Amino acid sequence: MTDLADLIARAAESPPESGDFREVGGVLVWIRLPIPGPLNHINVWLLETAGGWVLVDTGMAIPEVEEAWRQLESRLPALGRVERILVTHHHPDHFGMAARLAAARGIEVSISEAAAAASRLDHEPGHFTRVLADFADRLGFEPEPEFGEFLSGRRYRSIISGAPPRLGTLVQDQEIASRAGTFRVSLHDGHAPGHACLHAADTGLLVSGDQVLPHISPNISLYPEIADEDPLGDYLDSLDQLGALPAATVVLPAHGRPFTGLKTRTDALRAEHEQRLGRIVEACRPGARTGEVAATLFRLPRLDALNRLLATAETLAHLRYLERRGRVSAVGHGPELRWVSA
Ligand SMILES: [Zn+2]
Repeated sequence: MTDLADLIARAAESPPESGDFREVGGVLVWIRLPIPGPLNHINVWLLETAGGWVLVDTGMAIPEVEEAWRQLESRLPALGRVERILVTHHHPDHFGMAARLAAARGIEVSISEAAAAASRLDHEPGHFTRVLADFADRLGFEPEPEFGEFLSGRRYRSIISGAPPRLGTLVQDQEIASRAGTFRVSLHDGHAPGHACLHAADTGLLVSGDQVLPHISPNISLYPEIADEDPLGDYLDSLDQLGALPAATVVLPAHGRPFTGLKTRTDALRAEHEQRLGRIVEACRPGARTGEVAATLFRLPRLDALNRLLATAETLAHLRYLERRGRVSAVGHGPELRWVSA
């Protein structure tokens, strides 16, 4: 393990509180920002470069996070020298404050083309209603009235600070030179389109965003705007790619603490999905509606509307994976649609 990786592994024993930070080796700063609900926090990172600092991810645009940034600005001089903001993916806890922080500094926000496109779709209010009916018909998805807020992008737009004034593009294999390592960008699908991970072979660090998390399985959903895709297949491919990184890699995740044992974690995430796939094949032997399949995987009545939607969309991602591989097929349409095991 390199000295820096070793320092981060040690810092992981006592993480910063939400709204606080921990400097590591003078070249990396670990900041935690609040997230309401069980997720509790997001980790964002500052990496020192020759000309200043790069900020990776930004927190949701909600009053608690805006206040946290205000306090941090006065206590953390590095924030006065941020030269670029880099965002792993378009979800609001990552992308939310990017536009506001960038506008205040007159700097660029870099995000992958696929992530930028996904965010733009959430700004086209008519988009989802156009594709939703077809999606519901083909997949037996029964949208509850409460899902409208999320599917229309209304909720998303309320917790991000808008489109950044200057948007740069993150591409596969792009290098970001920093004193915390020379980070190479890899782009992955499954959790969100074009999710960027940053790996520094020289210092042994992986900024993993949500792609690999230490304790929870990132949400893998099939949504109307990606109705023909195979997000779970894409996600499992990404686990293979990331799991092949060197064994000593220290992972800096967006939620939870930095950890080692990347391959063990990617194997466990894969096993969790394989187990769900097995349960779905069993549930579909007699034929099952989409809602019935979701109920075998998740305790739906205990979930709020957002989490019921996520659970259903995640169930659909698993059904799509099985459908693509000839293990289940859909018979019928809309509310009458049944999934049947091959
Ligand atoms: Zn995410």
